[in-house]
Order: sequence, then structure tokens, then C-alpha cells
Amino acid sequence: MGAWGYELFECDDDQDMTSDLSSEAGLEDLTKKLLAEKKKKEASSQQADSTPSENDKEPEYYELSIHAHHNPDEAAAAAVRDALNAGKLQELVDKYLDKFFATSTKDWYPPEYKVCLIGACAMSLGCTLSPLFKAQLKTLYPTTLKMPEARSQMKRALFGPDGYVDGVPYDMPLGTGKIPKRPEPGQGLGGIMSLNVQGQFGMFGAPPNKPEVMAELRQTMKAIREESEGLSSGVCGQCGASEKEGKVLSKCAKCKIRAYCSREHQAAHWPVHKHFCKAPETISGEETG
Ligand SMILES: [Zn+2]
Ligand SMILES: [Zn+2]
Repeated sequence: MGAWGYELFECDDDQDMTSDLSSEAGLEDLTKKLLAEKKKKEASSQQADSTPSENDKEPEYYELSIHAHHNPDEAAAAAVRDALNAGKLQELVDKYLDKFFATSTKDWYPPEYKVCLIGACAMSLGCTLSPLFKAQLKTLYPTTLKMPEARSQMKRALFGPDGYVDGVPYDMPLGTGKIPKRPEPGQGLGGIMSLNVQGQFGMFGAPPNKPEVMAELRQTMKAIREESEGLSSGVCGQCGASEKEGKVLSKCAKCKIRAYCSREHQAAHWPVHKHFCKAPETISGEETG
């Protein structure tokens, strides 16, 4: 519905989705656990000093910002990161990609949009993203995120300069590198008081992408998943023509694994293969390193 800017999490739709995703990831239980532990610690430190704590008004939840350095509680952010890395991240991504491939979703928000949001949150927390998930985000975000600034944030995170590095909480700056100022205490993490621009989803949901655009996107996403499962060298990456059938195939010059029946098919397959094409020395370097 309302928005106060064109960046990620500058509209209440993003906030709503993230709050739903948080409960789906089991973060409410995690929050309760963290708050209980905190209370216990404070109680034991107060036995010596019985003056009432300044923190009498306990928060019921933790606020996490999309800009990593805005997060007031690093330990809470780390606990969420650990929970996501332990499998919750993959679970959520799988759930919404299944909906994306199923095409018959009746969800108000497009599942691929949620996948992009999950990716942004995961990067801001410093989660470990699989090479497949990174490739999926790179493929999804240009058609999925309509707000120019949100798109520029995602582009910079995924492609650089100063892009996202696994394990390091990321500030999700704008494409220009600018990171918004940290809000004053009590001001909250957004500017929800001024819903003054039209968000991506407006009042009636986002105008959907054209069916042919979505069909192509699904096809590319399927191909990316297959490609990530292993590069078989005996068949053309694009059409599947095989050497057994007597086709002459040439190998990709960079990775020397992926094979193609023609230059045309190599070019057509590049949007898929580029995510996983590595020079052999990089691959062996990673294995030994
Ligand atoms: Zn071919
Ligand atoms: Zn290659």
C-alpha cells in the first residue's frame, strides 16, 4: 500500500511480508528465547543492585534493519543469521520458488518478490548464500523489483562494486553506494509517518508481468537449477544434442567442461551458464583451499 520511498523496505508491503516470513522461519520462538535469556541475565545482575532497571519497558520483539549497521542488537542479528543458515533460509526459498514454478498461486504478493526480499534480508544479516541462490536472485530481481532504488540496491549487492560477501552483514546501500543515516533512538527504523509515494503494490496489488515474460523467467530459472546440479560435458548445454548421436561439440573456452553444438547455442545458453562457469584453476583452488 503506502510507501515513503523507493528503496527496499520503504513500503509497508515489504514490512508486512517480512513479518510473515519471520514467523514462517520460526523467528517468533527464537525471539521469545532471546528475550527470556536477556531477562534472566538482567535479573541475576540486579540481585546485587536492587534499583529498578532502566530497561523496565522490555521490548516484545527485536527490530532488524535492512542496513546491517543500523541494527541495535548485534547478538540478536547473529542468532537470526544462525537460525537461517541452519536450514530456515533454504526452507523459505524452496517454499516460494515452488510457488513461483507452480504458476497457480493465489497469493497477493508474487512469490518471486518474496524470494528477492528473503535474499535482501539474508544478505543484510550476513547469511551464507548458495551459488544457486545467488544465481536465482540475479535472474529474478530485474523483472521482479519495480522500484528503481530497490533494484539498484539489489544490483550492487549481487554484482558490486563492494557487493555482498558471504558471512559479512551487509548494509544494502543504494547503487551509488549511499547508505541512509541511522535513525535516532525512538524514531524507529522506517519513516512510516509519511506514506507519500506510490509503492510497487499500490492499493490493488502489483500489475503482473506479462505471461510471456513470466514463462521465459520460469524457463531460465529451471535451467539455472539444472545447471547448478552439474555440468554434463557430453551434450550441448542448450539443445541437448549429444556426441553419441554423432554431433561435434566444442567445449566452453573458460571452464572447459560445458559443451555446445554451435556458437549460437553457446550464446543462447550464456545467461544460464555464466553463473556456474569457472576457470578450472578457480575450481581446483576452491577444492584445495
Ligand atoms: Zn545445441
Ligand atoms: Zn563455461
